Formats: sequence, C-alpha cells, structure tokens
Amino acid sequence: MQDTVCCGCSVVCDDVAAKVTKTGIQSLGLCALGHAYYSSIRSQTRLKKAQMKAKSTSAKTIPFKKAYEEASSILSSSQRPLLIGWSNSPIEVSHLGLKLAKSLKGVYDSTASFEYGQLRQHKLVGGETGTVNLEDIRNLADFIVYWGVNPAESHHRHASRYTVFPTGEKIPEGRESRTVAVLDIRQTESMRLANHQLILEFKNGDEQFLTTLLTEIKGTTGTPPVKVGGIPAIEFLSFAKQIQEANYIAIFYGNGLLHSPHASKTLPLLSKVARVLNKKSRPCVTLPMVAYCNSIGVVTASQTDTKIPYSVDFNRQPPRPYKSVFKGLIANEFDAALIVGWDPLSMLPAPIARALEKIPLITLSTHPSLTTRESTVVIPTAVTGVETTGVVYRMDGSAVPVQPITKPPANIPTEVQVLEQLASWLAVL
Ligand code: SF4
Repeated sequence: MQDTVCCGCSVVCDDVAAKVTKTGIQSLGLCALGHAYYSSIRSQTRLKKAQMKAKSTSAKTIPFKKAYEEASSILSSSQRPLLIGWSNSPIEVSHLGLKLAKSLKGVYDSTASFEYGQLRQHKLVGGETGTVNLEDIRNLADFIVYWGVNPAESHHRHASRYTVFPTGEKIPEGRESRTVAVLDIRQTESMRLANHQLILEFKNGDEQFLTTLLTEIKGTTGTPPVKVGGIPAIEFLSFAKQIQEANYIAIFYGNGLLHSPHASKTLPLLSKVARVLNKKSRPCVTLPMVAYCNSIGVVTASQTDTKIPYSVDFNRQPPRPYKSVFKGLIANEFDAALIVGWDPLSMLPAPIARALEKIPLITLSTHPSLTTRESTVVIPTAVTGVETTGVVYRMDGSAVPVQPITKPPANIPTEVQVLEQLASWLAVL
C-alpha cells in the first residue's frame, strides 16, 4: 500500500494509502467518494482512445496524432476560443491553459468563477485576514457552522479530520468540546452531527436569519419575532448566544447560500457577521465548501499570471476581466471551446449549455460524459493524483503536492502532455 493524496474532493486528504491490484483498488483511509475516485481508473467505461465526431454523427476512434491535428485546427481557426474547466487538474495545467489562452487571444475561465469567484469582493474567503487554515480550525474552533452544505454527502472526511470529531490544542475532548450548527432549507444527513439543527424557510430564511443575527450580535435588537427565517425564536437565541460565547468560530458555506436567489444580500450579511464577531474578539473565519480538488488553485494560477482571479480576456493586452462567460455564450461570442476536466453540459443551466453545445468542443476527459458525447474532439487523459504528478490547492488554499501511484493504461497522456502537444501543433508557447 502506497501513501497517496486523494483528489476526490477539495478536502484533499493526505493521510491515505492505496494500491492498485489486478482486480481493483485496495485503500486505507479513503472515504467512499475517494475509493470510487481511485477505482475509476479501472472503470470499464474509461476513455482510452481519442475520438472525433461531426455534428449529428456518431464518434469514431482516431489516433492521438489526428486528435491533436484536429483540435489545433479548430483552435487556430477560431476568432474567439473559450478555454474552460481546470479545477479537477493540478495547478500546472492551469498555468499552461493561461499561456495557451494568451497565445490564442481567447477567454480563460474556470469553474471557480461559478463556484465562488464573487466571494472575494465580500471578503468571504478566510474572513478579514484572507487566510485560513484547516489545521487551525481543528486545533482551535469550538463553534462550527455548516450553512447550505451537506458535507456528510459531499465532503465525507471534512468533519472527521478537521471540524467536528478531532481533538486539537484547545479542543481537548474532540466532539464534546465543540458546538456544531447546520443550517439548511431541509433536513440533511449532516444535521445528525449538529447541536443546532436549523431548517430555514426556503423563501428568504437565510437573509432573515442573518439580518437578525447581525443586530443581535451588535447588541441592538429587542425581542426577536416568534420565528427568525423559519426558526423558532428560542432556537435562534440559543444559537446567537452560543456563537457569541465561542472562542473561535468557523463558518463553512455551500451552494445553498452561494447560489440562492438572495446571495447578493446574504453574502455581504455573512461577511458583516464575521467582521463584527472578529471585532468583538471572537475570531471568526469563513470558507466556501468548494467542490473540486483544485477549485482554489485555479484562482491562484490566474491571479499569479494575470492578476485577474477568473474570467480573463486575452483579446487585448494587458488582459482584462471578461464580463461573464454565461453572457458571452448566450450572445454567441465564442466560436470554439477547449474544455479541460469538466462536464459543463450536464452542469450548466440549460440555455447556457445549449449555447455551448452549438460550437465545436474539444474536451479532455478521463471518462465519458454528456460533454464528451457532444464534443468534436475528445482526448482521454490520466486521472489527477492517481496517475499524474503536480500541485493542487485544497479548500483552505494550502498547496498539496500529489504523486502518481500507477501509470495510466494505453499510453493515455496527462493533461499537461496534451496541452504541450496542442501548443506544439499550434506553434505557440
Ligand atoms: S474526503 Fe475527499 S479528499 Fe478525502 S478521501 Fe474523501 S473524497 Fe478523498
């Protein structure tokens, strides 16, 4: 069994081990999601050969050389290519993608712009300091909040490694030394862990709860209404009292808050709550529960190379922030797309997915997906962290080097190798 780093989600567990056997994968410490991630290298459906397809025809297998030739032909004849994805790949892939986008005068964007891009303006990545560390949270946080996220199903080991169960420097009893609150609009599996199980009203429960919490911790409220965002006042007051008595608060929030119709109001409110608690000497950090193993790294790469965190338009020099890839797609501004390690057609809202589907797509992927099915060129790639080397940035922004434990089958290239080949065919970089 070999020590390894799991890239199955943004927790990026580095305390696990795995071994590839003739019949499958043996693992130690991996959660079910992680084990499935490693096992995917042996999946019967794994992409092993490059494919090409014209519109409305079925895909045919082609040699890798032909795939590079076709892909580079599409990209070189494009007036405005979109290069998108990147969050499931090591940061080296993002840097290459940025260089390629620059050479092609295209637009580079990542899943981070949809996942959590707008949060930086609200100082909601790490709170006031902009930095946060999962080890500090394990050692210090005695009040944990999960808001609009269900880690028991999405980030299996988050609670056991960092937030709920482990002991820490100031957390001598582990679970007994922490208070845990889970807020959502429905009962979730994660609520089983919680002292405060708070089911908010769907309509604007988040906003009401945060507004009242803010006035409460500012000490300017009278008696709260009978219900606060759908929560009985007695439960709300118990939460408000305990969060103000905590020594260190960590708030993790997910799509339930990020993508709610009221996000433009709730995100600044959450930021204010954290700020007021910090001012009252109650350290409070906030962190989005991003999905992918390198959701944070793609922003780091883009910020480092262009000083723009996401959505970078290389059509002019110096590059500028691009208005919105969603709007650009709807306005038919792109005439080709290179998609790296992502399945946008099954994830984006239908009108945007339909707009994307209309243009020639070149997709780098490990397994078949709705996007590979509709792509003009598909190039199979090695699985991040299991078969490739590189660095990924876990959800708190810590850089974690990853090393392969096995080689990909059938000479499948890494994403870095594919991008280098494309650059060579395009005679750029
Ligand atoms: S929590 Fe995430 S990183 Fe950790 S083992 Fe599970 S899938 Fe892998």
